[in-house]
Amino acid sequence: MIDSHCHLTDPFYCGGEQIIKSMAKDGLEALVTVGYDAETSAECARLAAKYDGVYATAGIHPSEIKSENDMDKVLPLLSLPKVVALGEIGLDYHWDDVPRDVQKRVFEMQLDAACSYNVPVVIHSRDCDGDMFPILKSWYRRLPKGLVMHCFSSSAELAREYVKMGFYVSFAGPVTFRNAKRGDAIRAVPDELLLAETDSPYLTPVPHRGERNYPAFVRYVIDKLAEERQTDPEKMEHITSENARRFYGIK
Ligand SMILES: [Zn+2]
Repeated sequence: MIDSHCHLTDPFYCGGEQIIKSMAKDGLEALVTVGYDAETSAECARLAAKYDGVYATAGIHPSEIKSENDMDKVLPLLSLPKVVALGEIGLDYHWDDVPRDVQKRVFEMQLDAACSYNVPVVIHSRDCDGDMFPILKSWYRRLPKGLVMHCFSSSAELAREYVKMGFYVSFAGPVTFRNAKRGDAIRAVPDELLLAETDSPYLTPVPHRGERNYPAFVRYVIDKLAEERQTDPEKMEHITSENARRFYGIK
């Protein structure tokens, strides 16, 4: 199985190498460690270059915008062979600690960069559907390798709109929470656009909720997707792994 979105650079993981070394034992054939600022993007790229089965993304998260010069450090990483996407980028109106006009400007500058670097995009979207939708609608035809809505938590209606534009939709631990009521959204995505992720170390799925999250726990997300779609977990594992490989261009 593949964890299509985690953060090995988080201080919780003390460098992430312990997790990487237990990947085979945990049944993980690959994982994608996602950058969210200049430092973590460079560190993700370093881990990917060093270890088989580890892939990286580079980008500036909307809540981590410190200086627009950071773009000059992040974007060149996209030329490295195992840096497979630009992200995570987007809008975050939940924390709202970076002015919204700055978030939008940096987001669109990075979407533009995805076109020049010819890479797929990982989108972070939190409490901002009203602004996110028109931006993506105006950009998606220009994006050469498509995009994924990471940790999707909006309605089934919105999932259907995104699917119409060909976006991948990725689900994380919250789908396993009691009262999550995410079944309709999970069923709104066709097999070929569905991804599973942990977003670890955050959002630990049931039955480990309350503990630290790990990439291997993508198993519980896959099981939940299988349950909601009334298919078996092995098939769901195969589908989500194939999709992650296709989306990120992983062999
Ligand atoms: Zn993330």
